Amino acid sequence: MRKFKTESKKLLDLMINSIYTNREIFLRELISNASDAVDKLYFKSLTDKSIELSKDELAIQVSFDKDARTVTVSDSGIGMTKDELDRNLGTIAHSDSLAFKMENGEAQGDDVDIIGQFGVGFYSSFMVGKSVRVVSKAYGADEAWVWESDGVEGYSIEPAERAEHGTDVIITLKDNTDEDNYDTYLTEYGLKDLVKRYSNYVRYPIRMEVTKSRELPKPDDAGDDYVPQFENYTELDTVNSMIPIWKRRKSEVSQEEYDEFYKTDFHDFADPARTISVHAEGALSYDALLFVPSRAPFDLYSRDYQKGLALYSSNVLIMEKCEELLPDYFNFVRGVVDSQDLQLNISRETLQHNSQLRAIAKKIEKKITSDLEDMRDNDREGYEAFFEDFGRGLKYGIYASYGAQKDSLADLLLYYSAKQDKLVTLAEYVEAMPADQPAIYYAAGDSLERLGKMPIVKTVLGKGYDVLLCTQDVDEFCFTAMRDYGANEDGEGAKEIKNVASGDLDFATEDEKKEAEEATKENENLFKALKDALGDAVTKVEVSARLTDAPACITTEGPVTLEMERVLSKGPDG
Ligand code: ADP
Ligand code: MG
Repeated sequence: MRKFKTESKKLLDLMINSIYTNREIFLRELISNASDAVDKLYFKSLTDKSIELSKDELAIQVSFDKDARTVTVSDSGIGMTKDELDRNLGTIAHSDSLAFKMENGEAQGDDVDIIGQFGVGFYSSFMVGKSVRVVSKAYGADEAWVWESDGVEGYSIEPAERAEHGTDVIITLKDNTDEDNYDTYLTEYGLKDLVKRYSNYVRYPIRMEVTKSRELPKPDDAGDDYVPQFENYTELDTVNSMIPIWKRRKSEVSQEEYDEFYKTDFHDFADPARTISVHAEGALSYDALLFVPSRAPFDLYSRDYQKGLALYSSNVLIMEKCEELLPDYFNFVRGVVDSQDLQLNISRETLQHNSQLRAIAKKIEKKITSDLEDMRDNDREGYEAFFEDFGRGLKYGIYASYGAQKDSLADLLLYYSAKQDKLVTLAEYVEAMPADQPAIYYAAGDSLERLGKMPIVKTVLGKGYDVLLCTQDVDEFCFTAMRDYGANEDGEGAKEIKNVASGDLDFATEDEKKEAEEATKENENLFKALKDALGDAVTKVEVSARLTDAPACITTEGPVTLEMERVLSKGPDG
């Protein structure tokens, strides 16, 4: 039998040009490899006490040379021997890091967190580089080697010089073309931005030479008109913040630290209203840190708004906004989910299996719900402010799911009670219902004031029943989708939710109804004249048994009320 030969040139080409959607992730991949190399050395030092590592050895450095058009990622990690260079960088889809993880997974515990697994990340450097040089000296070895390739014709390995153990990956960037400009990778700002975006939480310091400015000392003979003088200088700075705040227990982090993290990472000026920290272990372990903003972002209800949580795996950013992690009605929640257990796809830009993600999303949804319930019960003022901004979305959640979400969302809703003159939950409404009250009543319109003056509202209140006054477009649609509220576990005992303006409100006694019918008959001619005068504006005119002190009211038959007609005729966006 013959062995398959890989057309590595074609394979590499395929790799480089079709796996990644975003070429800037090359830096993420190289830093991840550097972090793995440092991790491996650190792991070795845990078991071999003869290895003493200084803090500087457990670090990564990123630099660039504008003239030579190179970007370099250096680490003082475990390094590679000549054989390892050949095996690891000469074989596509070969990952020594994965093998390392398999061998030491048990032993490494929390101290080591290897990122690599697919054996392709390194080649992403050819998306931006026309050639790549890797100078490496393995820990404990005497000689260094340089691996070099233009990504097309294969590679060479030659002896090289390197003072200490570790690896430098030096990319010579491609020339700019009309479409592609690689110059952002040759600026301090451009590189720093990428480090912060993708590798901010890599556990080892990532250092960069950064330019700073300082004021020169004021000369002794400076006169009153002295203008302060500044000079630029460069300094090696740690660019990443390293410790993922979401991995720390809530008891170890101050609210100020959470607030700071939220404001910087999610670009808000105000502190969050709620901070939810989740640490799950077991079949699917993950950490999550979620925030409920204290007010709605300006574009929350626009089509451009993008929901989602940042998704990390082993401290490296996979997706900035993973939509699947949040249901639409919790689209306002911001935050981070980090899980080592996710099966990433080969580009580490998305996931292999969404079932894991769905499982996490479910748990997260529950956490958010219970946190909001907690706020509702223990910080009512805060909850009312929250509801003012985000309540509409919760109601849409029920409406858009045709009521399927009512079990989880109905208890988060607040409505204005005409009787109690304040916001109440549906549970509080039902709790306060007189024993003979048959249904939950609401009235929908555009202002509380006008709703309060509606004759039918007064009638219902007059019977000792409360009426929920609803002023949002979505209210009536939401209630129509809910139909009823308050069923027990067996699905019994639910109270129907009724619009006081719908024709079938049945408060009148049989006698009163008969009376009204007779009055209608007796005045047949009058009503016919009224109907003729009003024409198509009404379908019929009759005596009503539902009015108390008002002379007349307009009402509808069937499920669509006047208010809904008004909303519908405005179109979906109002
Ligand atoms: P992965 O990281 O998924 O294993 P890569 O293509 O990124 O795949 O890297 C392939 C292998 O090359 C790694 O498994 C590792 O053994 C080796 N390697 C890459 N970069 C370095 C480095 N900076 N130091 C030591 N070994 C490295
Ligand atoms: Mg890698």
